[in-house]
Amino acid sequence: MAKIGIDLGTTNSLAVIYKEGKSERILNSLGSYITPSAVSIDDDGQILIGEAAKDRLISHPDNSASEFKRNMGLRTTVVLAGTSYTPEELSSLILKKIKADCEAYLGEPVEEAIISVPAYFDDNSRRATRIAADLSGLKVERLINEPSAAALAYLNKNGYKDGTYLVIDFGGGTLDVSVVDVFDNIIEILAVSGNNRLGGKDFNEAIVQDFCTKNGLDHEKLSSAEKAVVYRAAERAKIELSEIPMVMMEVPLDKKKYMLTLTNQELISISRPIFEGIRDPVRKAIHDSRKTLEGIDSIILVGGSCKMPTVREFIRQITGLEPVPSVNPDTAIAEGAAIYAAMKNKDLKDVVLTDICPFTLGIAVNNDILKDGSMMMSSIIPRNSTLPSSITKPYNAASNNQVRVKLHVYQGENIHPEKNLYLGSIEMDCPPTRLNSKICDVKMTYDINGILIVDAITTDGNVVTKAFRSNSNVLSSEEIEKMRSKMEASILVSPEDEKYRVLIARAERVYEESFAEQRMLITNFLMVFRANLERRDPIKVKESYKQLSDLLDKLEY
Ligand code: ADP
Ligand code: MG
Repeated sequence: MAKIGIDLGTTNSLAVIYKEGKSERILNSLGSYITPSAVSIDDDGQILIGEAAKDRLISHPDNSASEFKRNMGLRTTVVLAGTSYTPEELSSLILKKIKADCEAYLGEPVEEAIISVPAYFDDNSRRATRIAADLSGLKVERLINEPSAAALAYLNKNGYKDGTYLVIDFGGGTLDVSVVDVFDNIIEILAVSGNNRLGGKDFNEAIVQDFCTKNGLDHEKLSSAEKAVVYRAAERAKIELSEIPMVMMEVPLDKKKYMLTLTNQELISISRPIFEGIRDPVRKAIHDSRKTLEGIDSIILVGGSCKMPTVREFIRQITGLEPVPSVNPDTAIAEGAAIYAAMKNKDLKDVVLTDICPFTLGIAVNNDILKDGSMMMSSIIPRNSTLPSSITKPYNAASNNQVRVKLHVYQGENIHPEKNLYLGSIEMDCPPTRLNSKICDVKMTYDINGILIVDAITTDGNVVTKAFRSNSNVLSSEEIEKMRSKMEASILVSPEDEKYRVLIARAERVYEESFAEQRMLITNFLMVFRANLERRDPIKVKESYKQLSDLLDKLEY
């Protein structure tokens, strides 16, 4: 039974299998190893995943969704074609598609996977990811943190050397910076930082703004279809600039062709704030890890935006370090997940992965500084602690002859407890204690499954123990079962059909992007193609498929 590694990304997802000492990227039904993390419901209720769904974000925005990874673990839903979907459900559809593609590619059932998640994901988001996997029919023994996966891919290629690595993951809409320490086969995340609103999209946005300014267009006045067209052209230009020094953007809008030439130098000057946005998280991650730049052995760059030579150069400048060239920014995380899956299969020697606590856990105490009767947060397990973590702290009586304590347990970074997440309380009797003398010890133990155990220990050795889940919105088993039956009833477009629907989605998208006369052509070709599909005439279908795709190739230059 094959076991795979999956990078379930905000923008793109992919799967890798590790066997016989090599990692192999799995090609999806369209022959690509990257599947856009987009879902769209087709007119007949069938579900499209990936490229076609991404195209339909433009032509059928009300039936299509993307970026739902951002909401994993939150109680939100989106409505697509009249049905509401949770982030878990949408992610499960991506996983279902990846599972099906892997099975077709490998020719055997795939039932188990290691899935990567951002290191900062809290228990809610992690649990949501596991639920998504479960709904898709995949067994997930463990989730792997994305930076650990990237480090593992690096180590597997370059030998398992001890060292401290700076992993910079710059994706479509998020920047994650981590300091990862490797010692004696233990991969430990020392610190994480980042900006979850900074990514490749911002470059596209900057190019769009520049394009509008230089062409005297008012961005606000463009229709949403027009905006989408310019935006797509901008992304294409950006990606081409990773390979060639100068690109020409040509966009047809409202019976006129608008142009922009762009070089990497110009891209830098219009994207200053984006580059600057990389600086702080890098500094913060290194600082939080208690290391200095000199203590970093290598830089591992992953994520699509790290393919930009300008980004690599900027990182080189601010760190003075040369990023390692041997890591593929697109696939490293999935590779690491696959390698870990193989380790669990005993194909490889084991490494130990540790998790970190992405938030502070503590209790509310009297504000001794302001002495105004307000409470403040006393942290017991600080953010970025390696898990499992167990820390004990003594606390003093707040009044004379105090005989009872009530501890209010919180999770969060704010000094004001009420602004953090309240997890619950624990109460106990104590021997009478004078003001400001020690009344009890509080021991907190937090494990990788998100269970917090609090022991309150009196001075005469009495212990009261209580377990907390550090989450506020666990789904009930009924809710999960409801999602399960809904997902079991949802049908993904079959691989035979998919090819055709991808072409139709593309035609509809290019239609939006074209002038009237080209629209006529597209409509005609599309009608012929659809008619042949309906007549189920294989030869005619093939013929008109080719005609339509040739036309689109020409229109899309
Ligand atoms: P995520 O982790 O968010 O799922 P990825 O790591 O796949 O996303 O990164 C997607 C982003 O990378 C997109 O914004 C895309 O435009 C950008 N990207 C992909 N390839 C290139 C390239 N060759 N040059 C520049 N940007 C690229
Ligand atoms: Mg990613």
